[in-house]
Amino acid sequence: MLKTPAYAAASATTPLEPFSIERREAGPRDVRIDILYCGVCHSDIHQARDEWGGSIFPMVPGHEIVGTVVKVGEAVEKWKLGDTVGVGCFVDSCRECEACKTGEEQYCAQGMTLTYNGYERDGKTPTYGGYSTRITVDEAYVLRIPQALPLERAAPLLCAGITTYSPLRHFGVKVGDQVAVVGLGGLGHMAVKLADAMGARVTVLSHSPGKREDALRLGAQDFLATRETDVFKENAGRFDFILDTVSAPHDYNAYLNLLRRDRTMVLVGMPDPAPLAAAPLVMQRRRLAGSLIGGIRETQEMLDFCAEHGVASDVEVIPIQQINEAYERMLKGDVRYRFVIDIASLKQG
Ligand code: NAP
Ligand code: ZN
Ligand code: ZN
Repeated sequence: MLKTPAYAAASATTPLEPFSIERREAGPRDVRIDILYCGVCHSDIHQARDEWGGSIFPMVPGHEIVGTVVKVGEAVEKWKLGDTVGVGCFVDSCRECEACKTGEEQYCAQGMTLTYNGYERDGKTPTYGGYSTRITVDEAYVLRIPQALPLERAAPLLCAGITTYSPLRHFGVKVGDQVAVVGLGGLGHMAVKLADAMGARVTVLSHSPGKREDALRLGAQDFLATRETDVFKENAGRFDFILDTVSAPHDYNAYLNLLRRDRTMVLVGMPDPAPLAAAPLVMQRRRLAGSLIGGIRETQEMLDFCAEHGVASDVEVIPIQQINEAYERMLKGDVRYRFVIDIASLKQG
């Protein structure tokens, strides 16, 4: 086992603090990765504070990992020393169910192995995430980071990027579609960039009026401040697709009314439950759906798409010592648009 510096939450009510974990030696099919950067996702906060229930402590969050391969097991075929790679939200799955076989491992019938806040396939060894200096992962769950992408700006693609790319593709967003992105945070700003790169006409709906200029700079054509009450009346029936990335409870019904007939709103944000009325769905045969990250194959496709279209995350790089402050700032919507931890700060500190 390899003693590895990390940052962990000891419980749902304590701040993250320095902590030491053990990583396994690389098995025959494993690669060992020295972590360079790790993005900070709002799911890290939800889980570190046990907002979804069932959190496993101590918890080392982090599932937007970029690093360098420093060791490969003897049976590894895909990777060699020095490769720049990524690890996203899961590090294993059953590999046998229909979901796994079709490359949708995130929907594994046996449950995927989360990168952190989960257990390995043995059901008892806890997994620890990217707020640490290294990780050992089966080669099949590792992604290639294209050379064209700056590493710290690529890290958030491993969750925020794929979580927004996947529903845009799955629901067939196409050139010229009117797409609304609700919430301009880590996921939201990637949704704007990706939908724009796919040729859609993007509108940002935000409860922060001060984000207007950023939204337009990121690729949106229009910006609606949702605190202005007339906005919902004036834009009824306007959009072909709505991607809701908001992390706090809000009124889904109001947003559903902004869809055209037969169109779909997809939830990727995971706040506490909020009431849902039948009428907005029934009256115009609208659909409400959800979407969970993306599989390994599609994540690689997304990374390659980003390299090809010059898409990467807008980031604020922080040392790990500022992680608790970063969480507080995210809760206030004060991040433009993803915190990324420089893991070198953990090696020194
Ligand atoms: P984030 O960076 O904190 O952004 C969330 C955004 O939601 C904020 O920037 C803000 O945008 C909006 N918001 C926050 N509080 C609000 C409030 N009280 N009322 C209205 N809007 C509010 O978070 P993130 O990392 O993008 O994650 C967003 C959500 O997606 C989280 O719930 C996370 O757990 C979930 N998630 C889901 C998946 C999946 O696979 N489905 C994957 C990753 C994350 P404005 O200021 O523009 O309003
Ligand atoms: Zn995430
Ligand atoms: Zn499976």
